[in-house]
Amino acid sequence: MKVKPHMTKKRGVKSRTSSSVANGQSVYVVGLISDTHGLVRPEIAQAFDAVDLIVHAGDVGGRGVLEALRRIAPTEAVYGNVDDPSDPFLARERTLPIGRLTLHVSHGHELGSPSADLVLARYAGDVLVFGHTHRSLVERRGGRLVVNPGAAGPRRFDVRPSVARLTVEGTRVDVEIVPL
Ligand SMILES: [Zn+2]
Repeated sequence: MKVKPHMTKKRGVKSRTSSSVANGQSVYVVGLISDTHGLVRPEIAQAFDAVDLIVHAGDVGGRGVLEALRRIAPTEAVYGNVDDPSDPFLARERTLPIGRLTLHVSHGHELGSPSADLVLARYAGDVLVFGHTHRSLVERRGGRLVVNPGAAGPRRFDVRPSVARLTVEGTRVDVEIVPL
């Protein structure tokens, strides 16, 4: 089904002025992005079409990135190892309600070389998002979901830039890696 754009509250997407409903459940779509390193590719507007919220997992690379993302949807961001930890728009980590589920995001450099195992062991939440490795990853473990959307910024190594779209419907969550 198609999720229509609508207004959201500042934190998370728990309450909204209108909602898309499927089978009696509200549907929330969240755009996941990381490691932009100062670059917002034009394809991102299409990849994040009609999302309720954008979550940036760090290594933002400047205020202009968040301004560009906010023109698409409300954006929550954490700082990575290249960002200024004192930037008031960036936090070390964020815990966001997405409908009935909880999403946790941090950059992952605080874990050294982040992996699904390390993130699952360290953080609480139904959906755990990290970045830093520049490699996309989707892993389900005991009802929990770990996502690294990959790097959306300048191409590095042999890795194609990507973002991810997360869809939450009740307690069901799906994720799609979107190559840019
Ligand atoms: Zn990093």
